[in-house]
Amino acid sequence: MAKVAAFHSIKQNVYHDDNRCTEGNNIEKENLRQGTGGKPKCSRCAKLN
Ligand SMILES: [Zn+2]
Repeated sequence: MAKVAAFHSIKQNVYHDDNRCTEGNNIEKENLRQGTGGKPKCSRCAKLN
């Protein structure tokens, strides 16, 4: 339950970096990618960090 390496979904316009983020946890494996993807940080992750 903490900050993790940045990851994102190819279907979302934001990246996540906290494993408590429900939006990040809901990403399906086929859409999951490592890194930020050049996207802004998810607002939920920003609050959790
Ligand atoms: Zn998030």
